[in-house]
Amino acid sequence: MDLRTVSLMLAIGSFLFGILLVIFKYKKNNPQEVPFWIIAKFLQTAGTSLLYFRPGYFDGLTLVANTFLLSGCAYESWAVRILSGKPVKRQLHIFSSAGIIIVCLSTIFLVEPYRRGIFFLVHSLFYFLPGKYLFSKTGINSSLKPLLGVCYCITGLVFLIGSVSCLVFPEFVLSQRSRILFSIIPVTTFCIFLISGFILLMLAKERSDMQVLEIQKTLKESEVRFQRVVETAIEGILIFDENYKITFANEKMASILGYVVDEMLGRPYISFFPESQLDVYYQQEFLRKKGKDSVYECCLLKKDGTINWFLVSAKANLDDYGRFEGSFAMLTDINKRKEMELLLEETNRKLTELSNMDSLTGIANRRCFDATLEHEYSRLIRSKSKLSVILLDVDYFKEYNDYYGHVMGDDCLRKIGKVLTSCINRSVDLAARYGGEEFACILPDTDINSAVKIAENIRQQIQDLKIEHKKSKVLEFVTASLGVVTAQYSSERSLEEIIAVADKLLYKAKVSGRNMIEYAEI
Ligand code: GH3
Ligand code: MG
Ligand code: MG
Repeated sequence: MDLRTVSLMLAIGSFLFGILLVIFKYKKNNPQEVPFWIIAKFLQTAGTSLLYFRPGYFDGLTLVANTFLLSGCAYESWAVRILSGKPVKRQLHIFSSAGIIIVCLSTIFLVEPYRRGIFFLVHSLFYFLPGKYLFSKTGINSSLKPLLGVCYCITGLVFLIGSVSCLVFPEFVLSQRSRILFSIIPVTTFCIFLISGFILLMLAKERSDMQVLEIQKTLKESEVRFQRVVETAIEGILIFDENYKITFANEKMASILGYVVDEMLGRPYISFFPESQLDVYYQQEFLRKKGKDSVYECCLLKKDGTINWFLVSAKANLDDYGRFEGSFAMLTDINKRKEMELLLEETNRKLTELSNMDSLTGIANRRCFDATLEHEYSRLIRSKSKLSVILLDVDYFKEYNDYYGHVMGDDCLRKIGKVLTSCINRSVDLAARYGGEEFACILPDTDINSAVKIAENIRQQIQDLKIEHKKSKVLEFVTASLGVVTAQYSSERSLEEIIAVADKLLYKAKVSGRNMIEYAEI
């Protein structure tokens, strides 16, 4: 085989090899790359291609070709070093490339065969180097490694012999007898190209398999770590798929709700919501599907049918295209806090109720009367309708108290309170104890006729109670006098004036003989 043929075969071989490595690098599913290898192959392609056009000469082109070839050899060494499990520092490959360029340029000042001797010497160095790396005990433990190492060393030795011959026995090199020796060099180069190409690919495959194993191991470790965090968390954790079915629940979550984890998996999240909370569920589902995160309070059904309150911090899982593919929720048990809150709310409600209730009669007190009247008066201004007020005063009640005693007096007031409550039917009406033995009714949107009817009913029913009152100058039973006023909205009339009119009408009923109603529309 002559040098030209070998150069051409090496150029084509290196180029194809380089292309193969590029394909490996950009392979979609499982990209694999050994740093420096592609550049090594393309440098070797460039070097051998140039040598094909310039066999046996020495000029600028062969100088460049040799520089490329030697750099290619150097970069292949670095690739082998990486495959052997050792890193290659930036300075190492930059300085070595610079060194190669300087050595190649310096050969301009040399004559044959010394020039060739120097090239062979550098070549042998970069064949021995990978041999050395392959014999080291780091990285992949493949039996192919020492085999390839031996091949590199043999090639290095061939180049070393060639170099020594050129530098020490120049006459021999220039003679015809050296032809056999130098024909070995291209053959060896081609052999090492084939062997190294094959074995290095195998080693690269083993390396990438090892990397995959390493990644899987790291993944497993982080999965175990995540599992531990999740299991020791004091919060409940739920993961949902795109249909809002539970794909993961930690033990804490399951135990709060009284389940075992397996019972929860695959169940729709909505099945844990009591009916009263379904609007919360739908609102949150809507937000999550829009990719929005949120923190909300809700209660979930436990296995025994009771409920448990949670503070939920929820996050949407979106895929690379922003499509909803599930969500993640961290649930803090706030049941105790929520129970306290509800208890407090209930207590407050009861307190408000008590503060508005008259303790003797159980109907609304003066405080509630004033507040309601104020409210209804402002409503009257807005609605421009009518508002009726009844004031009631028990007749000769001082005498009743003096004769029958306070306990009987109280009992009488209780009975009158009940009559008032029974005589008003609408929820907007209010019967209240105004003070002492005086009572009052607020009747919103009620005209004078209806108000008088109600007042008359009250008067009659009190009389019909037939509570004995021997000291009354009206009848032998307890009676009451009533003043009824119906106010039409007028900007000049104040609330106090309306009450004052009702009071005057009550007084009029008293002086007119008691147990009667006086009314007026203003
Ligand atoms: P008139 O027909 O003019 O209204 O005469 P009266 O005696 O009812 O009028 P007066 O206002 O002088 O007396 C009201 C009495 O009501 C005084 C008090 O003994 C009695 N009274 C006021 N509040 C209570 C109460 O809470 N319980 C009892 N038992 N009596 C009360
Ligand atoms: Mg009175
Ligand atoms: Mg009275």
